[in-house]
Amino acid sequence: MDFEQFQNLAYIGASILFILGIKMLGKADTARKGNRLSSIGMLIAVLATVVGQIASGQMHWAMVLAGLVLGGGIGLVSAKKVEMTGMPELVALFNGFGGLGSLLVGWAEVAGVVDIDGFTGVAVWATILIGGITFTGSMVAWAKLSERISGSAVTFSGQKIFNAALFVALLVCGAMWISSGTPALLYAVIVLAMVLGVLAVIPIGGGDMPVVIALLNSCSGLAAAAAGFVIANNVLIVAGCLVGTSGLILTVIMCKAMNRTLSNVLFGSFGAANGAGAAVEGEMKALSVEDAYYVLEAARNVVFVPGYGMAVAQAQHAVKELGELLTENGAEVRYAIHPVAGRMPGHMNVLLAEADVAYEQLCEMDDVNATMEMVDVAIVVGANDVVNPSAIDDESSPIYGMPIINVHQAQTVFALKRGKGAGFSGLVNSLFFRDNTRMIYGDAKETITGLANQFKE
Ligand code: NDP
Repeated sequence: MDFEQFQNLAYIGASILFILGIKMLGKADTARKGNRLSSIGMLIAVLATVVGQIASGQMHWAMVLAGLVLGGGIGLVSAKKVEMTGMPELVALFNGFGGLGSLLVGWAEVAGVVDIDGFTGVAVWATILIGGITFTGSMVAWAKLSERISGSAVTFSGQKIFNAALFVALLVCGAMWISSGTPALLYAVIVLAMVLGVLAVIPIGGGDMPVVIALLNSCSGLAAAAAGFVIANNVLIVAGCLVGTSGLILTVIMCKAMNRTLSNVLFGSFGAANGAGAAVEGEMKALSVEDAYYVLEAARNVVFVPGYGMAVAQAQHAVKELGELLTENGAEVRYAIHPVAGRMPGHMNVLLAEADVAYEQLCEMDDVNATMEMVDVAIVVGANDVVNPSAIDDESSPIYGMPIINVHQAQTVFALKRGKGAGFSGLVNSLFFRDNTRMIYGDAKETITGLANQFKE
């Protein structure tokens, strides 16, 4: 067996590990193992490529080592240092640099080459186009999420037409570069792609950035796959396609769970244009922590429904402690997770896992909804849109049709929030005005800790 055959065998092995790893990520109890398996696959792919490059004399081992230590070191430190709440920003940065990496690979392959064949030309053009958009688009997403720039949508008249014109210019420059090989045209493609990345993301509001990040993640995969064609590397094509498709599936899942289309996220101004829904009548009834304790003390079936406010308050550890005290008191305790609760996919799962809440206690929306009438108390911890019954009973509401956790069907609802402010959608929540709902105002962590202290006294 010569080295190339051995290398291809290693690539096939790595690809199988990627796919098995992704499959295992689908279940909470196998997710860690899946992550590890995919990492081993990546290590095999990197080693097979690096050894091949060094053996063929295309690279000096010191250069490869320097790259591995530098890149691996930065990755390790940033992943270790990042707070759970900063995860979307980190993912945005990783996507962006993935796009930039692909762009550079495409560029390096044709730098100084005048006579470009059609296939390579198209592959390089696609790599630079997608890589450039992913790079600058991700940087804008990162800046918006980390509040380095304003999260509000930046729009100007004729924006969509301008973006379309940019895309046409990219097509024209690309075609002219492939036929003439003029370097200036390639530089134009690089610059235009980067400008398009910025202009495509600035009109999208900060709250929608997680969806954009999932989409950019998909783009970074496609850019890598295109780069794989440029340098004829099979494992790069496979890995790129896996990232491309899984990112796209995640984007579609998130849009569905918000009952919005992708074009509404990318081009729509959410909320403003869609109306505010029917006026809500009645009043919100407040309850003190002490009175809430008496109700909880008698409860036998309790469901926590965490939302973005739990992340803001960092109340997950307090929630877990209260859950344990309720269990000791004889109640069955579950945690109901809405797919888009919080601001990133799996946000609540990650926070509850950090607090060591048992996987078996986490319930999916449909499962918990089927049993909601048997729930004595539903404790809504900083969730708002994902428990708004207008999504079911108010056709004029912009979130009508969005699947929600039906806490309004529970015997009693405790809604924990700081004030009367709206959620992400900006809508009034009719849940808070229902007869069976009691508002417990204050920071969620303080309220939950207060309740736990009552049990301990
Ligand atoms: P929401 O943003 O609808 O509501 C969060 C609530 O938390 C607010 O009502 C706020 O009220 C309360 N809150 C904030 N800080 C605290 C605190 N310290 N203590 C107690 N309460 C607090 O969150 P949901 O999780 O219900 O819904 C998520 C929304 O985000 C959905 O509309 C979803 O479509 C959207 N979204 C989700 C994405 C995802 O990937 N998960 C991606 C993009 C959008 P108050 O200010 O009064 O305290």
